[in-house]
Amino acid sequence: MTDCIFCKIASGEIPAYKVYEDEKYLAFLDINPLNPGHCLVIPKTHYRWTYDVPDFGEYWEVAKKIALSQVNNLGCQFVSFITVGKQVPHAHIHVLPRYENDPHNEGLNTSNKLNLTPDELKTISEKIKI
Ligand code: AMP
Ligand code: ZN
Repeated sequence: MTDCIFCKIASGEIPAYKVYEDEKYLAFLDINPLNPGHCLVIPKTHYRWTYDVPDFGEYWEVAKKIALSQVNNLGCQFVSFITVGKQVPHAHIHVLPRYENDPHNEGLNTSNKLNLTPDELKTISEKIKI
């Protein structure tokens, strides 16, 4: 879709800190993470909502792979899966590592956007990369 930022990431037109890629799906770091290691999983084809993605179960299996890598490589306590889609109209699953005493409870505390440097983002993406 023209002018969709996640379509541009999927096609390689704009860069992202990628952590996983296969023929149909891509996972990369959220540029304004709510916790270190916050990832987004997208279908490479444009769909508006996660439930528009044809192979819904297969899509969520990718989110699980990312979560297991976060648990194994970031030392997080557990992982939250969240879907919103109000800012970017291309289906994405937020895969959010959760740490003891982080500022999130049942939902997201969106006032906790971290300001990580490109070097920090790169280091974190390399830890999660599958
Ligand atoms: P929402 O659509 O409300 O689920 O949120 C969209 C998410 O995409 C936000 O957490 C943004 O920080 C994130 N985001 C927007 N543009 C980019 C980008 N170019 N690279 C990585 N993450 C992005
Ligand atoms: Zn798109």
